[in-house]
This record gives sequence, structure tokens and C-alpha cells, in this order.
Amino acid sequence: CGIVGYVGNNQAAPILLDGLSKLEYRGYDSAGIAVRDANGDAEIVKAKGRLKILAEKTDNGAAVPGTCGIGHTRWATHGEPSENNAHPHKSDDGNVVAVHNGIIENYQELKEKLLRKGYTFYSNTDTEVAVKLIDYYYKKYEGTPVDAMNHAIVRIRGSYALAVLFKDYPEEIYVARKDSPMVLGVADGASYIGSDVPAILKYTRNVYYIGNLEMARVKKGEITFYNLDGEEIEIEPKEINWDA
Ligand code: GLU
Repeated sequence: CGIVGYVGNNQAAPILLDGLSKLEYRGYDSAGIAVRDANGDAEIVKAKGRLKILAEKTDNGAAVPGTCGIGHTRWATHGEPSENNAHPHKSDDGNVVAVHNGIIENYQELKEKLLRKGYTFYSNTDTEVAVKLIDYYYKKYEGTPVDAMNHAIVRIRGSYALAVLFKDYPEEIYVARKDSPMVLGVADGASYIGSDVPAILKYTRNVYYIGNLEMARVKKGEITFYNLDGEEIEIEPKEINWDA
């Protein structure tokens, strides 16, 4: 339901918790964040219920150090509201960690394929299928994260905004979307993403809107956009002249 992401020089977790609070008005049943530093695995913390519980669980973010992360408030569509079904979700080996807004219509068929390939599933969400599909293509073709996301999104039917961390690419967040919004911004050497403008408006009024079936590589203070052929594309920022 709500997505935020940050990569920069500051601690990510407090910024993620603050961004999620700006999206609370959309409603949610659980929330979670994943934060990593340059060397480590992403640490995932999730909680059912209010954001306040997640804030308490993470000592307002202080317990989850790192300068790159993603966060999510979930409005369950597949799988009951629970800590286990809350996002972020990760691949079996933790190589791919992601949050997702929307609905993956063909998740059952994709899940059966992945089960045949030896993947295991620990949640009842459609989202976990997308995460493992990205991991599957990342390993199968040994390409870049953009290649892997590209392969995955042409096979996913439905709506999605995805924010993805790859263990091999520290300090980077990968984004793809179709029929579910995502905005991105750069300010003061850092980059921000959000599923809605209020999540990032505090940091920048120049916002990049990515189109359906487009992707982005988000680094500290630098965002590169890609089309479905994996080619770099230019997107002009739009100025926001209203207040949240
Ligand atoms: N379909 C996903 C789920 O049920 C995402 C729901 C959302 O947009 O929050 O976990």
C-alpha cells in the first residue's frame, strides 16, 4: 500500500519510518523495513498493526543501522494481515529483498514454476512470488539487476510498484512499476523513493514519475531510468507546487 526508500549518507531507518508515517492516511494492517550497509545482509524488521509498534521494535530506527533501505505499509490482498506476511520479503538466500504494492494476478502459476525449481515459500503473499521470480532470473541469466527485473516483469500480470535490494549491489535500490504509482527524487546527495509524493516532499519538490514497465537504478544522489529493453531513458523532473 505504501512504499518508501532511501539511499544516502544518513541513517536510513528513521527516514523510512518518517516517510511511512506520511503514507499512513492510505490505511494499512502491518509495516516493515529492510536496511543494509555496504557489506552486510539486509536486516528486516516487521510488525503487525500500527507504525508505532515498528518504531518501538526498532528503537525509532536506531536498532537497524545502515544508509540504504526500503519500507512498506501493507494492505493485505493475498494472505492474512500478519507479521509473517508483512513486507519486505526476501529470496531463500537473502540475495533479493523487496517491497511491493499491488496485485500479482498470475502468482499461483508463477509459484508452481518456482516450487518446481526448488524455491520454498514462507508467506501466503503474491509478493513473495515476485521476489523469488526476480531472484530466479538474476541467477539464471547472471545479468544485472535491471536484466533480472526486466525478465520478471514481462512475466508478471497485474499491478505492481516494486522496490528491490540486491545483496551484490550495496547502496542501490531498484524500482519497477506498472499500474501502481512510484515517485523518485534526489536531494543533497541522497535519493528518495515513495509510492506517493507526501513520502518525499519534505526532501525535494522535483519529482521523477516513472512510466508503466519502466525501471530505475537508485544510487546515492543519482537515478538512472531504463525502458523494457534495458536501455537508459531520460525522464524530466516535475516540480510539485502544493503542500502535503
Ligand atoms: N498484494 C500484496 C500483499 O498482499 C501487496 C498489498 C499492498 O499493496 O499493500 O501483500
